[in-house]
Amino acid sequence: MEPKMRRGARLVLSPLPFQGHITPMLQLASILHSKGFSITIIHTQFNSPNSSNYPDFTFIPIPDGLSEIISSISDPVTFLSLLNVNCVIPFRDCLVRLLSETSSNDGTETETIPCLISDAMMHFTQGVADSLKLPRLVLRTGSIESFLTFAAIPVLKQKGYFLPRSDSELEMPVTELPPLKVKDLPTLNTKDPEAFYQLQGTIVNQAKVSSGLIYNTFDDLEQSGLATLGQQFPIPIFTIGPFHKLFSASSSSLLTQDRSCISWLDTQAPKSVIYVSFGSIVSMDETEFVEMAWGLANSKCPFLWVVRSGLVKGSEQVEPLWPDGFLEMINGKGCIVKWAPQQEVLAHPAVGGFWTHNGWNSTLESICEGVPMLCRPSFGDQMVNARYVSHVWKVGLRLENCKLERGEIERSIRILMVEKEGEEMREIVASLKGKAEVCIRNGGSSYQSLEDLIARILSF
Ligand code: UDP
Repeated sequence: MEPKMRRGARLVLSPLPFQGHITPMLQLASILHSKGFSITIIHTQFNSPNSSNYPDFTFIPIPDGLSEIISSISDPVTFLSLLNVNCVIPFRDCLVRLLSETSSNDGTETETIPCLISDAMMHFTQGVADSLKLPRLVLRTGSIESFLTFAAIPVLKQKGYFLPRSDSELEMPVTELPPLKVKDLPTLNTKDPEAFYQLQGTIVNQAKVSSGLIYNTFDDLEQSGLATLGQQFPIPIFTIGPFHKLFSASSSSLLTQDRSCISWLDTQAPKSVIYVSFGSIVSMDETEFVEMAWGLANSKCPFLWVVRSGLVKGSEQVEPLWPDGFLEMINGKGCIVKWAPQQEVLAHPAVGGFWTHNGWNSTLESICEGVPMLCRPSFGDQMVNARYVSHVWKVGLRLENCKLERGEIERSIRILMVEKEGEEMREIVASLKGKAEVCIRNGGSSYQSLEDLIARILSF
């Protein structure tokens, strides 16, 4: 059904150009469109979203100067910093043009642009919006708890938490942020950790002076974090997730989803399959990949494994890396695809567990389908998410060793998939799934927060 248009209001949204950020931004756009807003997406040419899946939206690419040099940038901090510099002028020019188009009134009703909604990591957009006197709302695509950890970096740094650590020190608690351990603090594989902390500081500070923060989470999941956030960030906060329960993630996929795995899942027993995916960015070395393969095979549990191009460092093609005898051994027991329709996979009755890197989208998608997790975080916010999954919500267990090792993998998969401990996690996550469903229903906390967000937008 066509939404009743809120005549005259066009929202401009701008995602960070990575899968885990594009998806929630386009879901948010779809949610707001369903509430009657017109939508314009300003996006980089690098990783540009598939506009044909969104015929009702206007997509405007801006030159980012990144596509040409991306292959020579190996450091993620360099990439993010460049993005926040290169886009300033084209983004500003684009907004100025949009604002002038909507303000010229020839007597017919025209549209206004009440605000900009941009990804927290596109921090430069705050300055651009300020200079044009346009309110900016921030979409933070991660959890509230991970954002609070990023916000605490200056204090934690002062206390020495980021100094080089021995293995035993990494297991120590972060007393300021229970139940985190030192090894859970945000890191990135960068040559310049100082630049990473500074970048995070800028992201947090620019969010703090924005006109509001939007989260893809729900109150029952992050009640205590939400209360702390409210104290630290005295701006309106909107918790309107889980987005994907309102609009699927499939249409925003940058890679083609291989649907053949769904027919394979159809042949498997209920809750018997472990789904394995490390999202769109994580990579590992060849030794770990081989450990992973044998851990899966030795667990004797059926598995669906996403082996994305680039998953193994330095190898675009994974075929030559299969250990001898592996493919023969898993014959029929395992299904391997390059990219899966993840949401559909997690909702499939045959799936009983998810071995994940704990990107926030994957974590939330798993919780909302009632699937317990085996956690193997790598960088950024993933360690915080994993700690909450295993120690706060108790809906998963974590591979605690730094390096993947087949024995630990095999044991952990069996705990999750066939032992009582896994069954208990399955029961808890089923109840969280129920809570997520209630949140988005009429009168639920996310439903109400979305109403508040709309009121806020219309107040500008
Ligand atoms: N995803 C998918 N197919 C796959 C693996 C992942 O569609 O085979 C989607 C997944 O549903 C999620 C997103 O890609 O929405 C990954 O986001 P997340 O925040 O979990 O991780 P990131 O890729 O940012 O590390």
